[in-house]
Amino acid sequence: AKYTVVDQETCIACGACGASAPDIFDYNNEGFAFVHLDDNEGRVEVDEDFYDDLEDALEGCPTDSIKVASYPIVLEEV
Ligand code: SF4
Repeated sequence: AKYTVVDQETCIACGACGASAPDIFDYNNEGFAFVHLDDNEGRVEVDEDFYDDLEDALEGCPTDSIKVASYPIVLEEV
């Protein structure tokens, strides 16, 4: 299983992830990315069909803001 979440503290709203994986990532009003599967809560499994897209997005993010794990991810509140 794979789970993903965007750390919006470090996202620079570059738009790369949504281009690589439009079925996973979308942008809020300020352009920052979020996982639209679960409103960026990191608790909904990514469908296997989108693993390749997720990998592309992960590798393409210039700020390493995309977190991927095999378990639900909880980002620390800052
Ligand atoms: Fe943000 Fe990374 Fe997506 Fe760019 S690729 S919008 S920095 S999460």
